[in-house]
Amino acid sequence: MAQEKIKVETKEFQAEVKKLLDIVIHSLYTEREIFVRELISNAADALEKFRHQSLLEEEVFDSHVPLEITIEADDKNHTLTITDTGIGMTREELEANLGTIAHSGSRTFFTQLAEAARKDVNLIGQFGVGFYAAFMAGKRVRVISRSYRPTAEGCEWASDGAGSYTLTPAPGTRRGTKIIVELKEDAHEFADKMTLQRIIRKYSNFVSFPIMLAGETVNTVQALWARSRQEIKEEEYTEFYKFIGNAVDEPFFRLHFSADAPLAINALLFVPKDNFESLGFGRMKSGVNLYCQKVLIEQHSENILPEWLRFLKGVVDSEDLPLNISRQALQDSNLVAKLRKVLTKRFLKFLEEQAVAEQERYLEFWKNFGMFLKEGATADFAYRDEIAKLLRFESSRSEAGQPIALADYVGRMAEGQQEIYYINGPNRAAIESGPYVEAFLKREIEILYLFEPIDDFVMSHVAEFDAKKLVSADRADLKLPEKQPDQAAAGKDEDAALAGAALTGLTDWMQEVLGSRVKAVTESKRLEESPAMVVNPDSFMTSTMERVLQAAHLHQGKAAQEFGGKNLEINSRHALIKNLPALKQKDESLAREVVEQIFDNALIQAGLVVDSRKMVERTYHILERIAVEVQ
Ligand code: ADP
Ligand code: MG
Repeated sequence: MAQEKIKVETKEFQAEVKKLLDIVIHSLYTEREIFVRELISNAADALEKFRHQSLLEEEVFDSHVPLEITIEADDKNHTLTITDTGIGMTREELEANLGTIAHSGSRTFFTQLAEAARKDVNLIGQFGVGFYAAFMAGKRVRVISRSYRPTAEGCEWASDGAGSYTLTPAPGTRRGTKIIVELKEDAHEFADKMTLQRIIRKYSNFVSFPIMLAGETVNTVQALWARSRQEIKEEEYTEFYKFIGNAVDEPFFRLHFSADAPLAINALLFVPKDNFESLGFGRMKSGVNLYCQKVLIEQHSENILPEWLRFLKGVVDSEDLPLNISRQALQDSNLVAKLRKVLTKRFLKFLEEQAVAEQERYLEFWKNFGMFLKEGATADFAYRDEIAKLLRFESSRSEAGQPIALADYVGRMAEGQQEIYYINGPNRAAIESGPYVEAFLKREIEILYLFEPIDDFVMSHVAEFDAKKLVSADRADLKLPEKQPDQAAAGKDEDAALAGAALTGLTDWMQEVLGSRVKAVTESKRLEESPAMVVNPDSFMTSTMERVLQAAHLHQGKAAQEFGGKNLEINSRHALIKNLPALKQKDESLAREVVEQIFDNALIQAGLVVDSRKMVERTYHILERIAVEVQ
């Protein structure tokens, strides 16, 4: 047999690769452990490709070899070796794949990488820099590969990253690729078993092939989301939830779905049992990890779901995403935006289904996590119709503590009613004893009770449901249907009501007393029991919204605004109002104080803040006059 001369060929890297290597090698980066992820993800890719090819072709080389990834850490010689039994590369493929940047999207990616490195070298750690990341930790990298093609031959690629690489025949190589990273002085930790274990668990735990380290499989948890739903046990889901959520509780809801169109998505999302944000643990961070073909692209992704869904935990895997997409690119990507929309709609639909299938459970969810949906309603116009269906509020017809859906409300609206009414107040009792619901109860019109300050903002953003406008009961221009004729018994009072010139005289005078604090004093068409109430002529502002904005105003150190934009509605049938003109005749200064007090009381009932010091002083004054009177 003729002695074959070993042909070593030296080749220059493509210019872009040289630049990339220059950045990778000469930067001081903090996240260089990601090179392990990059090499494992390449190995996993190669295994996936082989798996596919072996299905398509009659003959493949080494068909009996198991599909796996082996990691060898040699802490004596300071090498890290990653071996896969995947598709392998021919000499030509080594040259094309590891000598040039050819794959799609890589040029813009490269520009961004270079830009990031220029700004702050630590930024490059956030980029998946692919195979070349091996030079972050390796002073020399050897790639020994043998393609799956039956007639191919083994070949070794080697480089120190300084402009050129060598190609040498490697006969006797098994199918797949072995990458030997000869570690730099300051990178010896990557030959440490524990370190590698941690890195693999962190980034590659769900790779769907076994990753062997020192004879053991490191990635214990499988890519659960990629398995068929029927096969997955309840406990497996729970364990997975605890693992990715770093959680000790059980998941409350689970949504596992896959779709092919418009995008390839495989998602497994969990709603936790506890809402730690409402428990005062500070603002949550997204708990959803973004994968592409089981390779982690972004942990706790802030791009894949809107911020108001930050309470979700889980995994989103989309094959349509490029593996080496940068964080910046994730933010800007149209594809990611599309993905976010599809996921959000799907999750909201899931909640809608849950609300129907398991009402009680949904209400429990609503109690814990409704705040996030409310945030979504105010922040994200795009989903307001979907969110509107998920809102739950108590109402004049619901039981205490049993909120209803807007659809329930609409379902029992009387014929002719065009709008959905609501009123905000601190609690049920306060609302029911206040002036705003009187007219609704008398007319048997249902009215929603809102207890949270944000609720009015939610309603104003959602604006309508089922083509019915959402209207606050403290609006000045509220138009309620006439009372039923059989309630005309109240006609007696009507006769005794203040009317005509006397009424006009009174409203004019009251307006004069209150001055710029009110826009107008008018006769109320809807008050029954209370003498007065404040209403808002501006249909976009409720008293609650005003209170919130005012608090924000104060919080910013600015002076509180006066309430100048409200109307005071008075009940011309109420004894207090009817007798005011007479009191004014007798003792105008007392009558003035009574008007002031009526206004303050109305503000309090609207949930607005009054000057309590002034008010207490005034009440004592009024009481004193009564005491004197009685003597
Ligand atoms: P990417 O994975 O985004 O394509 P990389 O720089 O990580 O970019 O890898 C470049 C190419 O090198 C891959 O597309 C693949 O064709 C080839 N490659 C890298 N590692 C392996 C491997 N272990 N087995 C087979 N081919 C590989
Ligand atoms: Mg890669």
